[in-house]
Amino acid sequence: MIMRLDRLQAEIPPPSDPDPNGASIVQELLGGKFGEMSTFMNYTYQSFNFRNRQGARPFYDLVASIAAEEFGHIELVATAINTMLTGAGDGKAGKRGALRGLKDARNAQEFLAGGASAVVQDSMGKPWNGDYVNATGDLIGDLTWNFFLETGARNNKLKVYEAVDHPAARALTGYLLVRGGVHQIAYARALENLTGSKMEKLFPSPRIPTDKIPECQPHIKRGEHLKLYRWSPDDFKELAAVFNGPHPETGEELEVAEEIHPEGAPAFDLPAQEAVFAPGPDVGEIEEIAQKLRQSAGLPKEPTGVVANPKGKGKVAKAKKAVKAKAKK
Ligand code: MN
Ligand code: MN
Repeated sequence: MIMRLDRLQAEIPPPSDPDPNGASIVQELLGGKFGEMSTFMNYTYQSFNFRNRQGARPFYDLVASIAAEEFGHIELVATAINTMLTGAGDGKAGKRGALRGLKDARNAQEFLAGGASAVVQDSMGKPWNGDYVNATGDLIGDLTWNFFLETGARNNKLKVYEAVDHPAARALTGYLLVRGGVHQIAYARALENLTGSKMEKLFPSPRIPTDKIPECQPHIKRGEHLKLYRWSPDDFKELAAVFNGPHPETGEELEVAEEIHPEGAPAFDLPAQEAVFAPGPDVGEIEEIAQKLRQSAGLPKEPTGVVANPKGKGKVAKAKKAVKAKAKK
């Protein structure tokens, strides 16, 4: 079973200028062949289907724990997309011309099928596909596949980093490039232990200078380029048998983190986008109902969830007010 924490694995900056076309490029990292849906579902099904787990425990633990991390990566990509789309479809629902800007958006479905939000599609609007999952049951074959999946994923992340300069996209790709590097090493170490082959010598690509990418630096400083997490209080401890030794590029020691998961950060509470009915054409009405329900359930007056921008404070509150003022005009 899976436990859920209401936090992001890394900080994504608050909304700034909307960038719907940049967001549609970032979709490749969500629903593309080498996107986070693919890494998540590949490792998840490989772990669900894993036979003779006890006999091969360190390898099962490795695949299962990386699968858990990838779930949170999908959440991060969706958050970046939603941040970039905030303000792109604002205005009052029913006001003629409120969504006129969508004519020039590369992906109209983010607004028409979604509420100015991430869709399970790639950068060209193709839906994510279960055929991207390779879970053959052959451990060595699947691990080799995973190594190339991580390699392709990092290649795509670097291209998106170079193509899109929105701060949310840059923060996202900076983090994911570092974590993808750890996963690449983890699968390479697994294969080396099983077969003696050195994947990084056989296939030394893509060469990604994470030490020169500014958005990678805070994560490297915290040692995120060396650590794997177990995502569980008591389980998946045997991945330490595979994930060890020196980092192939820096020579530093690889480690299984003592903490269960990264500290991460609370998400920004993104403002309503009423023109696309998110979370509805009348936000106040839903808030009132929620408030009444909260009261009758004996819950505190203020919402108990943690967000990066508690009500009435900070940049997003200002952006919300600006959006509201604009809508009234
Ligand atoms: Mn990932
Ligand atoms: Mn990965």
